Amino acid sequence: MVHYCPNCWQEVPAAAEYCPSCGADLTEATADYTDKLIAALRHPEPFTRRRAAYVLGLRRDARGVPALIAVLEAVGDDPYVRAEAALALGAIGGADARQALNRILADPDESVIVRRAAAMALPSAT
Ligand SMILES: [Zn+2]
Repeated sequence: MVHYCPNCWQEVPAAAEYCPSCGADLTEATADYTDKLIAALRHPEPFTRRRAAYVLGLRRDARGVPALIAVLEAVGDDPYVRAEAALALGAIGGADARQALNRILADPDESVIVRRAAAMALPSAT
């Protein structure tokens, strides 16, 4: 699994106790890591939002689903961020995730990038 510093969102070695980039203590970061990832879905940098969606998908934590659906449905946001949210929803799965992905697929006006991600994500969203 890829590890990211929950403070600066740089990639960090799996065994690191401190972030090499910003020095954040990584040993106490795990308890509310999902909360920090969810908060990062609203980060001003699109690349950070995208990375947070990706990591939430890797963690398959259902607590991330409502926030990922909000990102997926944020028409006008960066389509690559929304596509990453679609893929994460596919990885986590569940009825809410499937419904949101189906809504995207059913909308012909939706971004091709987002729809293609939803089509890829839907089969794995069990
Ligand atoms: Zn850091």
